[in-house]
Amino acid sequence: MTEPDAGSDLASMKTTAVAEGDEIILNGSKTFISNGINSDLVIVAARDPLIENPHQAISLYLVESETPGFQKGRQLNKMGLKSQDTSELFFNNCRIPKTNQLGEKGSGFIMLMEKLQQERLVCAVMGLAAAEKILNSTLTLCQEKNNAGNFHTKSQVVQFTLVEMATEVKMGRTFLDKLIADHMEGQNVVIETSMAKYWATDLARKTAETSLNLLGEIGTLEKCPVVKDFRDVRVMSIFAGTNEIMKGIIAKCMGL
Ligand SMILES: Cc1cc2nc3c(=O)[nH]c(=O)nc-3n(C[C@H](O)[C@H](O)[C@H](O)COP(=O)(O)OP(=O)(O)OC[C@H]3O[C@@H](n4cnc5c(N)ncnc54)[C@H](O)[C@@H]3O)c2cc1C
Repeated sequence: MTEPDAGSDLASMKTTAVAEGDEIILNGSKTFISNGINSDLVIVAARDPLIENPHQAISLYLVESETPGFQKGRQLNKMGLKSQDTSELFFNNCRIPKTNQLGEKGSGFIMLMEKLQQERLVCAVMGLAAAEKILNSTLTLCQEKNNAGNFHTKSQVVQFTLVEMATEVKMGRTFLDKLIADHMEGQNVVIETSMAKYWATDLARKTAETSLNLLGEIGTLEKCPVVKDFRDVRVMSIFAGTNEIMKGIIAKCMGL
């Protein structure tokens, strides 16, 4: 989906798909594509240049990595999530068979909106799992500080901070477990998924920040596991729809 000039505003996507005989010709570029370098097959969102309304113009196409005119660009050097590549993709008169169109022509926008729900749910799970992991690491590291004679967790400030972290993680887990069950039952969970995506990924960032603060100098060392978590969780509020976009969806659903 994402292009150099189309992030949150997918409607401004410029990559074109033009039919010619039994083929579709793709032209344009994508950026910040997860696993782009590793991919063998990509699903590309592209628009019919003759249709103005983006909700009717966008379709999805399957492109195999060996297709002439399809080129992988740079692997972007992110601050976190280093083991997952994020890259640029280019389409230059890239010809694919018409049969590579996914679903009905013009139904791309609707398909994206439907399936992005699932991606956002996964992001919420990632955020909460990261917060749980950070909490556990912090408890262990605080205990190590105690063992070193520091008696860190005897301070009420440290105790209450850890209690608040544990409470938020527990409340988040309860909400998310119920949300996953509701999603599996096929209920409409658009509001709750948007809430979970923004809240859980914000929680992960807040938990990482609080943890590093509690750990003091240990939390400034590369060997401290929370330092990597701190970098990894930063991008979670950006991808799969930013947290501001999530709040916009909720506001709309609330009729505001
Ligand atoms: C690690 C990573 C992996 C990614 N993987 C993929 C991928 O696999 N496929 C893919 O298609 N894309 C992917 N993306 C792109 C991602 O979806 C976009 O970064 C995201 O949609 C935001 O777009 P943007 O970065 O251009 O920010 P912008 O849209 O420019 O937003 C900048 C800021 O403005 C705010 N903002 C923008 N519009 C509004 C609004 N209407 N209301 C309120 N605030 C607003 C945003 O919340 C944000 O804070 C990835 C991004 C990252 C960082």
